[in-house]
Amino acid sequence: MNEYANIVFPIPVDHAFTYRVPEELRENLKVGQRVLAPFGRRRLTGFVVELAERCDLTELKEVADILDPEPLFAEEMLQLCRWIADYYICPLGEVLKAALPAGIHLESRRMVSLGTEVSADLLPDMERRAPRQALILRALMAKSPLSMAQLERKVGARGVSCAVAQLQEQGLVQVEELLPKAAVGVRTERWIVLQDGRSPEEWHTLVGELTTRAPRQAECLRVLLASEGYKTSLADLLRAARASGQSVAALLKAGLVRVVHREVSRDYYDRVPIPEAKAVVLTQEQQQALDVISQGLSAGTFSALLVHGVTGSGKTQVYIEAIRRALSMGKGAIVLVPEIALTPQIVARFRAHFQNQVTVSHSRLSPGERFDAWRRIRKGVHRIVIGPRSAIFVPVQNLGLVVVDEEQEATFKQMDMDPRYHGRDVAVMRAKLNNAVVVLGSATPSLETFYNAQTQKYQLVRLTHRIDHVPMPEVTIVDMTAERRAGRPRQPVVFSRLLEQKIEEKLSLGEQVILLQNRRGYATFIKCRDCGHVEQCRNCNVTLTFHMHDHTLRCHYCSFTKRAPTVCPNCGGTDILFKGTGTQRVEEALAQLFPQARVVRMDMDTTKGRRAHDRILESFERGEFDVLLGTQMVAKGLDFQRVTLVGVISADTGLFFPDFRAAEQTFQLLTQVAGRAGRVDKRGEVVIQSYSPHHYCLRFAQHHDFQGFYLQEIEDRRILGYPPFGRLAVVCFESVKEEKAARAARSFFDLLPKEGAPFRCFGPLPAPLVRLQRHYRWQVVLKGAKNRDPAGRAMNGALRQALQRYQKQHKDQSVSLAVDIDPVWML
Ligand code: ADP
Ligand code: ZN
Repeated sequence: MNEYANIVFPIPVDHAFTYRVPEELRENLKVGQRVLAPFGRRRLTGFVVELAERCDLTELKEVADILDPEPLFAEEMLQLCRWIADYYICPLGEVLKAALPAGIHLESRRMVSLGTEVSADLLPDMERRAPRQALILRALMAKSPLSMAQLERKVGARGVSCAVAQLQEQGLVQVEELLPKAAVGVRTERWIVLQDGRSPEEWHTLVGELTTRAPRQAECLRVLLASEGYKTSLADLLRAARASGQSVAALLKAGLVRVVHREVSRDYYDRVPIPEAKAVVLTQEQQQALDVISQGLSAGTFSALLVHGVTGSGKTQVYIEAIRRALSMGKGAIVLVPEIALTPQIVARFRAHFQNQVTVSHSRLSPGERFDAWRRIRKGVHRIVIGPRSAIFVPVQNLGLVVVDEEQEATFKQMDMDPRYHGRDVAVMRAKLNNAVVVLGSATPSLETFYNAQTQKYQLVRLTHRIDHVPMPEVTIVDMTAERRAGRPRQPVVFSRLLEQKIEEKLSLGEQVILLQNRRGYATFIKCRDCGHVEQCRNCNVTLTFHMHDHTLRCHYCSFTKRAPTVCPNCGGTDILFKGTGTQRVEEALAQLFPQARVVRMDMDTTKGRRAHDRILESFERGEFDVLLGTQMVAKGLDFQRVTLVGVISADTGLFFPDFRAAEQTFQLLTQVAGRAGRVDKRGEVVIQSYSPHHYCLRFAQHHDFQGFYLQEIEDRRILGYPPFGRLAVVCFESVKEEKAARAARSFFDLLPKEGAPFRCFGPLPAPLVRLQRHYRWQVVLKGAKNRDPAGRAMNGALRQALQRYQKQHKDQSVSLAVDIDPVWML
């Protein structure tokens, strides 16, 4: 029997704590469970990561309780989380917490209620067998439901949860998790059941008697008698019997029926109709990709594959067929997609093939919906999960296949909190630990992934044609410097003559247009013409964006908002320039030029609601609008059949960002949005406007030349030692006081080894965005070899050591610190 347990807590402490396991919990304690354990003066929820028979330590505290009937983490998930903790330098407890759906909240309140079919006859026997359980049942028979805390007060704290879990397994009690605010956890529905004890003949006599006196009640009984198991949900009953709640209440009172609570599964996507599955014969290229995947699945060993195929080349169809293979072998699958691409249409497409085997894990779901999804998968009810990066943690049974679609997307990287993991890289690791096949798909793979394919770390399959041989669009680049010279002075040129003319043409043909401007708001900043004053956010070191509809200046980093001044706050001048073009200005220009066009704008400002984004795309697809205008959101998601023109208002917005991935990301965005133009019978057209029309990034995008772009870009990376040739790590220090952030960064920098280290340290320097949300930010950047190399390990090791020493020396709570390994956003 294991007497000791090593437990980690979701706190910023990088090691496990050993506890003694009291006798009565030993039998039920398993690795991967949550437990309650004394910690300092509090009791904390922790995760059991190891059990041991012996321990040299003395004076150990005891585990107070076990919180889950079954482990939440299987061994393979624990292993994955250990890898994440190690690679991304994050405490294991925090990784484990992040790997659970938000619904299983650590601070949740749990309510226990008596099962509907429990009778007191059980008690005598149970009192002999399991006295704790019997005590709990007795308490619940007196009053149900009770919160866990109430139960503890009634029967004593130790082992309550564990005993409740066992009762739950026997179906004698139900447990609901309540979040501090909204109720999450199991949602139940009221069902009405005929009371036992009468034969069908007796029932029919009764119904006959009731019919004249209380026809609605009689009708309710008739419906129940005809229902399977003599029960039906209250809602269905009322509908079928055309009865009111009063009739049912009367039946209840007469003791003829009773109420039971049945668990229902909440599912956001249930509301979307499932289309019919198209039976397709794979093209030769698709078949080749499928063969490679199938081989991997049959072999039951790890393999990784990059499917590089232009948009519309049938990648998704390959994923679908691969999942079918996996299912037929009894294996499960995870499909990661960028959050924004997770439209009901994509989900419906998977559902068309796999019906209700598919579960969606999505941040737009309510916590309850997400919790249910997680449980369906864990129970093996569903074997396919689609979701954004966090879906990689879903406990799919016997995982055989992991797909990462649009693997280059930055949204796979968690940037704003620990663990700052990359969903794609975790996917590869999870596949490795499960002997599964991982498929990365993209039209514009990241340099890292394509390099891995070039160096045979991943197999490469190309899909070179669009399905039905839809031609690639014709791309024209317009030099905006020339356009400006031709235009009126002081007036910003939104549309070049070419783009204007093309829009007009498409509108008159009744075809659809997509316009991309990757900046929201009206003007990106306002500037006084007299003194040059530019309005800045008072919390952040950035300019404020002008929003036309309510005449405000807004910060896009902290949401600070103020009324736009009509006179310069600096010199009192009244000649204020609205510089830079956001989506709202494009919308305005469009309305002036084409007042008849039906335009829908899609950016962060118009997609606030839970389903707003889907609704815009759906209505555009139905043809309710002629023009879809917006930020990078318009480049992703749905496929549109009637779009024949794509216009990029300014390709320069992202091109000169102080980030080594600026060109790569611009190339990807341009390629993606260009891919939305064209259909079977008509070649699409794309117009890209730019003040740097000769930039290699635009030229390669113009010719749909990924390979050319890759070869040029990879050389720069090689020379500079950037990924994929090296690894970066950013340690960022934040404080409301700039000196504090700077001092912390400096002392951390001093703790890093410099002489002879196989990596280089840069800094300490103010971050490019030195102030965000009132916090000054200073950075130390490390650049070293890849992790696979011993030298890469050395970088992680040195970083961890420096962090430990730093944390010992610096107890200043007012400086926060974040470690970002393989950062994708370095501003
Ligand atoms: P991608 O994921 O590369 O953009 P899709 O898999 O969505 O490509 O395919 C584009 C369109 O072609 C979809 O409407 C899909 O149903 C259809 N399609 C895919 N493969 C085939 C095929 N082998 N035969 C006929 N239609 C196909
Ligand atoms: Zn701000």
